Amino acid sequence: MSIAGGLTRAVERGCAVGCEAIQIFTKNSNQWRAKPLTDGEAQEFRKELAKEKIQFAFAHDSYLINLASPSEDLLGRSREAFLDEMERAEKLGLRFVVLHPGAHLGTGEAAGIERISRSFDWIFERTPGYRVKVLIETTAGQGTNLGHRFEQIRDMMDGVRENDRLGVCVDTCHLLAAGYDLRTKAGYEKTFDDFDRIVGLKRILAFHLNDSKKPLGSRVDRHEHIGKGFLGLEPFRLLLNDSRFKGVPMVLETPKGKDDTWDRENLRLLRSLLQ
Ligand code: MN
Ligand code: MN
Ligand code: ZN
Repeated sequence: MSIAGGLTRAVERGCAVGCEAIQIFTKNSNQWRAKPLTDGEAQEFRKELAKEKIQFAFAHDSYLINLASPSEDLLGRSREAFLDEMERAEKLGLRFVVLHPGAHLGTGEAAGIERISRSFDWIFERTPGYRVKVLIETTAGQGTNLGHRFEQIRDMMDGVRENDRLGVCVDTCHLLAAGYDLRTKAGYEKTFDDFDRIVGLKRILAFHLNDSKKPLGSRVDRHEHIGKGFLGLEPFRLLLNDSRFKGVPMVLETPKGKDDTWDRENLRLLRSLLQ
């Protein structure tokens, strides 16, 4: 949900379309820096959230951040920027900060994964006692982006000292683009059996529900409205009725139109699949 006009506007927008969970950027997603949140802004946001039906509110980090960067300068800036994301989220009382773990930019998977683990150590050392958790998002694997194989997510988590502060956010569009075929019952079961064996289903603390404009294994990250892309409705029906994920928040990241018509329609469609 957009924070244009102020953070509390995201809560209002979510309520207007009947959301029980929202995801926000706590600042412009294409900027390194923003003015610090004031206590007043944070208080106002918490108050607005408490009086509404929204049970889960969490953040997505800025797209500039790359915790796997081989450039010392960019790695340093990324860590500082992610620390700022954590501070903002904690102040706002958000449950999670979701992030794309990073791109190795040609230096190889293992080196990239190692830099990600060290970055999480660096961040957690500086945020003792924080309640906000960090969720690694499953990615489409565009370019040299890591996090498109469950093994990579396991390895980056295993390398972190305080890894109980990490969880996973599963993005349905990214799973398909990464090559996990969850379009049939058998494929869906295999995907989550694999996830369970490699990472553990308990680690999944949120979902991004998006259809995909690009086919299975394309490694391209383009979101589509629910049921209108290469996933179709079946995977969403399976997911929404999977008792293992009861109570896990799910949010849309589907294209936005001029008004909230598409959000309403995607939500209506998803809820119609509940049995
Ligand atoms: Mn994302
Ligand atoms: Mn996503
Ligand atoms: Zn995406």
